Amino acid sequence: MGEVGKQLQEIRERIAAACERVQRDPAEVELIAVSKTFPEAAILAAAGAGQRVFGESRLQEAAPKIEALPDHLIWHFIGRVQKNKVRKILPLFETVHAVDSLKLAVYMDGVAKDLGLKPKIFLQVNQAGEESKGGFSPESLREELAEIAELKQIQVVGLMSIPPAVEDPEGSRHWFAALRELRTELQQRSGLALPDLSMGMSGDFEVAVEEGATHVRVGSAIFGKREAKIPGELE
Ligand SMILES: *Cc1c(COP(=O)(O)O)cnc(C)c1O
Repeated sequence: MGEVGKQLQEIRERIAAACERVQRDPAEVELIAVSKTFPEAAILAAAGAGQRVFGESRLQEAAPKIEALPDHLIWHFIGRVQKNKVRKILPLFETVHAVDSLKLAVYMDGVAKDLGLKPKIFLQVNQAGEESKGGFSPESLREELAEIAELKQIQVVGLMSIPPAVEDPEGSRHWFAALRELRTELQQRSGLALPDLSMGMSGDFEVAVEEGATHVRVGSAIFGKREAKIPGELE
């Protein structure tokens, strides 16, 4: 097995061990292999090792890759969503992780209706109020969720967050726990099921799983180091 296959297997084992520590079923956790900046060959290697779900953060980069790769792969859009790209994003991606405003949710619902699609979406929460990141503040989400719940074409599956980067993965734990608690509160307020939590990346996915993540977005721990930050990236 190649390097990517070995890394994938190791990540899956670490997810399973984290589940075991908190008595969760590993089947509840979707590993999204974040392939941005990596070539089709790397994605094929991962697919050959059984990986089906991949994450990309830029439409311009992702579209030709998706086009060239086998149809059975499932794509999640994890980058910042520009309104003028929505019409192209929705047909290619099953799930969109970073819907960051009511306006965008309303717009996306309309485009999805036009296209006859029912995309799954996560609402991104900017938990630490960082200027550099998009997302709802917890307060704005409390205020606006009722309106979002009215949108019937998009399927709001849960919350997503990229907490402030830290050296020690334990430093992310309180953010992950807070996202889970916000989810519980919003479920009670809105009646939306919100089953999913998209949280945890290469450095802290095990902690995220322990705190209830249903989707972890792991790139460099599978594919290796990325050369540089890319535009559209949410970090
Ligand atoms: C790049 C990216 C990831 C993956 O980051 P790694 O540290 O390489 O695992 C996860 N989520 C988002 C939103 C990203 O942009």
